Amino acid sequence: MARYTESVCKVCRREGAKLFFKAERCYTDKCAFERRAYAPGQHGQGRGKVSEYALQLREKQKVKRVYGLMESQFRLTFADAERSKGITGENLISLLERRLDNVLYRTGMAGSRTQARLMVTHGYIRINGRKVDIPSFRVRLNDVIEVTDKRKKEARIADNIKAAESRHGIPEWLNLDKDNLKAKVVRLPRREDTTLPMHEQLIVELYSK
Ligand code: SF4
Repeated sequence: MARYTESVCKVCRREGAKLFFKAERCYTDKCAFERRAYAPGQHGQGRGKVSEYALQLREKQKVKRVYGLMESQFRLTFADAERSKGITGENLISLLERRLDNVLYRTGMAGSRTQARLMVTHGYIRINGRKVDIPSFRVRLNDVIEVTDKRKKEARIADNIKAAESRHGIPEWLNLDKDNLKAKVVRLPRREDTTLPMHEQLIVELYSK
């Protein structure tokens, strides 16, 4: 499976925003963006004028990295967003939010999307009673996502939830049962449910060329 090998902290610094790729570290003074809030590299502190195309490309790269997708997966998700009713950019964010790895991160069961992907591929998760090991699995309305009984005893999952509640909260579209490590999709996510700095219209413009 293809994967990114570049330092994720460099992505935050290049995008000029904290994108929370790591779990604990993002909330401490060890965060690279807190220490050096400028783009990496020799010319990081003095970037010149940026073209419209570069802005669109940058935005697409950022969103793709935030959700941990490769280019082909991102293109497919965009195509789905275009086919769906409504505004393409908003549909895109909603579809990305519905990825199983993102759901685990949003509920706090995983400290980051990277951690969530590992939980899924290592067989920690059941959806509606069935084991699912595909991080890109797209949850639907009323789906119940649950940690398998064998893994429920792992203290770090409960610790992650506790930390998430104080750091970013649990979104309204997910109903979390903390005691049973179970979450239900009570409505589909909307654009306003995500607070990350994203300008999805730039991605629509990029792919419309
Ligand atoms: Fe980004 Fe987290 Fe690295 Fe800070 S620690 S730069 S928020 S990935």
